[in-house]
Order: sequence, then structure tokens, then C-alpha cells
Amino acid sequence: MTYKIFNNKYIKDFITLDNKNTPCYIYDTSLLKDTFHAAYKALNENFNNAHIHYAIKANTHPKIIELAKEYSMGIDCVSGGEILQALDNKIPPSNIVFAGVGKTNQEIDIALEKDIFSFNCESIQEIEVINERARNKNKIASICIRINPNIDAKTHHYISTGQFDDKFGIAFSTTSEFLQSQLGEFKNIKFIGLHYHVGSQILDRTVFESLTNTVNKHFETLLNIGIKIEHINFGGGLGIDYTNPSQNPIVDFDNYFETFSKGFKFKNSVQIHFELGRSLVAQSGIIVSNVLFNKTTHLTNFLIIDAGMTELIRPALYQAKHHIESLSINKNIKKYHVVGPICESSDILAKNIELPETNRNDLIVIYSTGAYAKVLSSQYNLRPSASEYFI
Ligand SMILES: *Cc1c(COP(=O)(O)O)cnc(C)c1O
Repeated sequence: MTYKIFNNKYIKDFITLDNKNTPCYIYDTSLLKDTFHAAYKALNENFNNAHIHYAIKANTHPKIIELAKEYSMGIDCVSGGEILQALDNKIPPSNIVFAGVGKTNQEIDIALEKDIFSFNCESIQEIEVINERARNKNKIASICIRINPNIDAKTHHYISTGQFDDKFGIAFSTTSEFLQSQLGEFKNIKFIGLHYHVGSQILDRTVFESLTNTVNKHFETLLNIGIKIEHINFGGGLGIDYTNPSQNPIVDFDNYFETFSKGFKFKNSVQIHFELGRSLVAQSGIIVSNVLFNKTTHLTNFLIIDAGMTELIRPALYQAKHHIESLSINKNIKKYHVVGPICESSDILAKNIELPETNRNDLIVIYSTGAYAKVLSSQYNLRPSASEYFI
């Protein structure tokens, strides 16, 4: 089956016949559904006690939260705003987890008042503060400790989160000491498990294998000193194919979950959690943009389009490469730099890519923009907010 977002004629008609403003984000409802379904199915084929918490920061649109709910997923939040967005969209608090290195008092209070499932704590000081604020409210806060396992996610260094040089999590040795000598003092904290999240856009299965091995070791070490663990949260980070989106619209979730289900020795004695973001939503979105101008300098053909880093910052921020097509039907092929209109030299969406000869008012499609696109958009240069459509 070809999904509508990969059907150029459909997209062209959708924009031109309907007079839609560009740039805009378009999401393919069928592909979204099929992706959530595939993840749900693969999870349950590999585990009988595991949950996915959709990492809402990838895309906070209510329709997508709705879909997560349909597939019995919880929500992984990294701010108070995200917790409120999940609750507004009828996610039960008992299905919400809350991570982040810098939780404010206000955010901690929201989470406590709403009785979310678990805080994923990233420093000992944070645990102290949660304990104190929970005591003031006569609450017991359930917490997991986010471990920094010092594993190289082999991804772009801006999206690696699990090495000692990264700001996230607490070292295992510190955690183990804390659990043995300090936890007892915190009467308003209930320690329920360990959380891990080593990075994003991870394509190398061996990264998840090393993570699983590390978790086995940590689990055993704590077991030996009598510390009980009810929950293991492996985080998210599964990568997608940015090069060939239409050939690989849905990632191999089975392969991903199998890595953990085969490698994790204690899978039948704890509840297991995953926090997938990108892999659930990235391929279902595209940005459609109109060509404003073409300009040829001594060196380069520039296509200047009406979408830029304000709609998709990933190329500027992470040197990310998104597949781009032109809907021009010209037979000549030319090499282009595709650039946005923003007054920043880094506002480049692609360099030296081959496209059919493309002119003013031709449409450009940028693929794999369902995740970390709209949510990272800005009004820089006082640009209007681009619309989102579900087809
Ligand atoms: C961002 C994030 C995720 C999701 O990462 P993806 O790469 O989008 O799957 C999961 N857990 C935490 C704690 C995160 O911050």
C-alpha cells in the first residue's frame, strides 16, 4: 500500500485545488495508525507485561495523543505543560511518566497533585525536593531513578544522552549508594524502579544490546544487596530511515523489542516500559513548501522556499538530512541547495541534492517531519505559525 503522503499527485492536488497556505505540515492518518498498531503488536508479541509511553515531545498534537490512547499507551512527559496536555487529552494520570533534568517546583507540584505514575529523577537533589514537596502535600511520590549508563548511542552528539559527559541521569554507583544509605530518610518517596534513555535516532541494534546487558548487571547488583525493583524503563530512541521514507515507512518494531525481550534476563519478574517518540510519528509527516525564487550564483543553484528553520530546525541543529522531492514534472535534473527564507546562514534544508528543474511556485516536499518538526518550530523573524492537516 502506498500512503497518501508519498503520492505526489495527491499532495499537489491537496495543496493547489484546495488553496492551502504553504508551508504546512501534513500527517497521514493511515500511516500513523499502522505505525502505532505495528508497535503495539510487536510489543505484545515480545512481552506480556510491557507498556509503551509515547514520548509526547516528538509531536504534541491531540490527534496523536488520541491514537496513543487507542493503543493503550501511556505518555512520557518532560515538562509540566506536557503533563497538562496529556491530561487534557484524557490520558489517565496513572499512565504518565515525567522525566527531565530541570523540573521546576511548579512542575513537580502539578505532577504531585495529579498523581502521575512516576517521576523519572535525574539528580539526588531533585529527589530531595520532590520528597519535601510531597510531604507538604501529604503525598507519596513514586519515583524511578534515571541511570546514566555511560553508553555511546552512536548518534549525533546533540542527541546522545547516556554518557557521563551528558547532563542526563545519575551514575549507577551513586544510585546504588543512595538507595542503600539515604533512601530511608525520604519518607514521602516510593522508589519503584530504574529508568534509562541513552539517546535518539539510534539505528545500531548493538546499542540496545549493550543497554540490555548493562541493565542486567545493575538489576543483579541491586538484587544482591536486597533492593527490590518493580519497574524497568528502557526509554526510547529507536531511529527511522530518513533516506528512504517511502520504502521504510514503518520501522521494524519487532526487531527492536526482540533485542530487549531476548537480552533482558528479568523480563518476567518486573514491569517493563518503553518511551518511543520519533519511531511512532516521524515518517507520517511531511512539510509542503512553495518555491519562492531560484537564484544561481557562480557556484550554486539555490532554491529558496517558503519553509525554513522555523518549520524544521533539525538540519540546522543536528545536521540532519531529510529526503526532499520537488513536485515539478520537468525532465531535466539539476543540483540544488534548498534553503529557507530566514535571515540565518544555517537556514539550509539540503545541500547539493538532485531534483528535476524547479521554478517559482513549484512545490517541494520534505519528508519524515512528523517528529521534532512542529514542536520545535518558532516564530523567529515574526513568521506565522504553519498549519497542520491530517489526511
Ligand atoms: C525524548 C525522549 C524519549 C523519546 O525519544 P525518541 O528518540 O523520540 O524515541 C524518551 N524518553 C525520554 C526521557 C526522552 O527525553
